[in-house]
Amino acid sequence: MTKKRYRIQSACPQCGCSFAQVMSKEELLEKHGDTPNIELECGECMLKFQADRKSACPEWDDECRLNEKNG
Ligand SMILES: [Zn+2]
Repeated sequence: MTKKRYRIQSACPQCGCSFAQVMSKEELLEKHGDTPNIELECGECMLKFQADRKSACPEWDDECRLNEKNG
């Protein structure tokens, strides 16, 4: 079984630079938990900001909804 990788993509609201992270589900849950908003840190200006999980990582959001459906 291959481990699925999730791509989190976002743009900093302060300096506008965009960045992406690729993580496994375990890493995602460990770092961000299972919340609708995830906390990211800009690599350029070090601003910490919240991103909407749905727009930052639609794949992960889909999977969370599937899990909810399954109980
Ligand atoms: Zn920034």
